[in-house]
Amino acid sequence: MPKVTVQIDPAVCILAANCVGIEPKLFQIAEEPYVELIDATGISHGTEYTFEPSETELEMIEEAVDSCPTRAISMQTAS
Ligand code: SF4
Repeated sequence: MPKVTVQIDPAVCILAANCVGIEPKLFQIAEEPYVELIDATGISHGTEYTFEPSETELEMIEEAVDSCPTRAISMQTAS
């Protein structure tokens, strides 16, 4: 699996939490007024996180991207 970079645009995230409902192991609502990305150990990576997802995780991220009402989530293949 290639690495991907997931990003949150904090300016447009409205904390609708659709993404958290789909993949709570990656998206987390903490103290900031936008959702944060966390790794498998629960450590926050803020609004940008590059990692190697499993096939299932990749499908969940794609679903989260599509579910976000403000298009705050983006995903790109990392180089
Ligand atoms: S679904 Fe979009 S708006 Fe809602 S918390 Fe996630 S990134 Fe933010």
